[in-house]
Amino acid sequence: MSTILLFSPYQSFSQQDKFEIIGQTMTHDPTICALEPNTTILDAWKKLSKYTRGAVLDWETQLNQQTRTRDVWNMELQLIPLEKQTHEIKCDITIEFLPKPQNKEEEFVVLGYTINNKQNDADIVIYFLNIELERVDYTEPANDPGYYYSIVEWIPSYADYLIPSEPLTMTIKHEIGHALGLGHYISYDDDALQKWQDGVQRPPSIMIPIEPTKVISADITPLDVEKLIQIYGRDGFYSEEIVDEIYESKIGHERVALPDWIRNNAKWWSDGIISDKDFASGIEFMIKNDIITVEITGTNSFSTEQKIPDWVKSNAKWWSEYLIPSEEFVKGLQFLVKSGIIQV
Ligand SMILES: [Zn+2]
Repeated sequence: MSTILLFSPYQSFSQQDKFEIIGQTMTHDPTICALEPNTTILDAWKKLSKYTRGAVLDWETQLNQQTRTRDVWNMELQLIPLEKQTHEIKCDITIEFLPKPQNKEEEFVVLGYTINNKQNDADIVIYFLNIELERVDYTEPANDPGYYYSIVEWIPSYADYLIPSEPLTMTIKHEIGHALGLGHYISYDDDALQKWQDGVQRPPSIMIPIEPTKVISADITPLDVEKLIQIYGRDGFYSEEIVDEIYESKIGHERVALPDWIRNNAKWWSDGIISDKDFASGIEFMIKNDIITVEITGTNSFSTEQKIPDWVKSNAKWWSEYLIPSEEFVKGLQFLVKSGIIQV
């Protein structure tokens, strides 16, 4: 066992807003392919392709403006009609439009998602049916006979038409942000959240996570562009050397390659499907096989009663959703070993 990382708890416990990054995901000007959906909704493809074109153009324009360049940041959009989807299409970013989630648990919860693949490409899925809230009034008997509570409930359902242009374009911009390497902008400020929701204030980033039933009007901001410049430098998607520097200074060492199964484990563990003990045995395996290395200093006073801190679990969750780099997740694992919560 050779390497180790000194762990600093400061960042993880602070409740300041934070902007996560995934890191460099593109190595050249990306080709974005938008796939025509199989739907009978009138003009759906016409609108979806228009909004996608707008979203791509906006990212390009803002990047070029903020770096004071012209045509340095380029993304090529290809619209792929249904009949051309039979054979393999090679794109850096693929956008698939589906009416709504196939999985019940994601209904009314997810507007879209992005999977960043190891081969520096990304798959985006956008759900395009509008969500309607229907008001349902009913009464429940109270404890006192003859008295009733009157209850108002809002029941969501999927409409048979598209989400309006603004929130749909916003979702496309947000998912393209993930595909380019941005994570979420996370705010703990309830006041600000309320203001964004009420439309009194614009969110500081397009990368805020949004609840599908809340109306929030967000757009690409200079902060989003700044974050991408941090990842790629100012000369477009090519600048690899600069990215290495960022990895050096931000994370302190090179990328960690973790086996795929551990990502599922991390997800299940953060969702409470598998126990701390099962998760710990996965980590043990990785340490024994030198997949991750942890130096044990010997003077740690540890107690097996200690509970796994929440930030480790949330890091596991974010990592399993490709929102933070592996290094951040590994820091959590190393903390568990160093503090004696997990013994190897
Ligand atoms: Zn997101």
